[in-house]
Amino acid sequence: MKNKLHLRHNIHSSTKTMLNLILFGPPGSGKGTQAAKLVERFNLVHISTGDLFRNEIAQGTPLGLQAKAYMDKGNLVPDEVTIGMLRNKIEHHADAAGFIFDGFPRTVTQAKALDALLAEKGEAIGQLIELYVDDEEIVRRIMARGASSGRTDDTDETIVRNRIQVYRDNTVPVAEYYGSLGKSAQVNGVGAIPYIFDNLCGIVACLV
Ligand code: AMP
Repeated sequence: MKNKLHLRHNIHSSTKTMLNLILFGPPGSGKGTQAAKLVERFNLVHISTGDLFRNEIAQGTPLGLQAKAYMDKGNLVPDEVTIGMLRNKIEHHADAAGFIFDGFPRTVTQAKALDALLAEKGEAIGQLIELYVDDEEIVRRIMARGASSGRTDDTDETIVRNRIQVYRDNTVPVAEYYGSLGKSAQVNGVGAIPYIFDNLCGIVACLV
C-alpha cells in the first residue's frame, strides 16, 4: 500500500507540464514588450491584468468602473477584485501550455492566491524574472509612452511617481517571496530589446 501511494505521488509530480512565468518589474520596465516575444517563442498565454482592466473599462463593465477609480490615481485595484478576474482568465485557458503573468501578482496576497490556483491544477510558478530599471529611466519611458498611448495614468508625473512608490512598497515583496522559494531571477531591463530578450530566454531555457 505504501509503495502504491509513493508511485501515485511520482506520477502526479511528473504531470506538471506547464511553464508558468511571472514577468516582473516596475511600470515601464518593458514587461509587455518582452512578454509578447516570450509568448511567441514558448507558445504561452499572456495574461496582463492591466490590459484586462483597460478592456473592462473600454466595455464599460461594473468591474471596469470599479477598477478605473484606482487606476486613475496610480493605486492598486483591491486584491479580491483582481484575483477574481485572474481566476476567470486562467479557467478560460484550461488547455494552455503555460502562462506569462505580466503585472500580476502585485502583492504577496495575490502571489499566494496564484500559487493556490495553480496548485489546484497540480501546477506551480516556474520562475519570476524581474526586469530591473532605475526610477528616472522609468519616469522618462512612461511619460514618452503617455504622449502616444493616451493612457491617463501615463501622462501625469505625480501619478507615475505614485505607481513607482506603490511598486516599491507593495510589489517588491512579491519578488522576495518567490526568492525565498528559490524562484526569483533578475535581468537588466535597460538595453536593446533583442539583447534583453536573449537574456530572458537564457533563464527560461533552463526551465523547459
Ligand atoms: P499596468 O498596465 O500593469 O501598469 O497596470 C495599470 C494599472 O492597473 C495599475 O496602476 C493598477 O491600478 C491596475 N492593476 C494592474 N494589475 C494589477 C494588479 N495585479 N493588482 C492591482 N492593480 C492592478
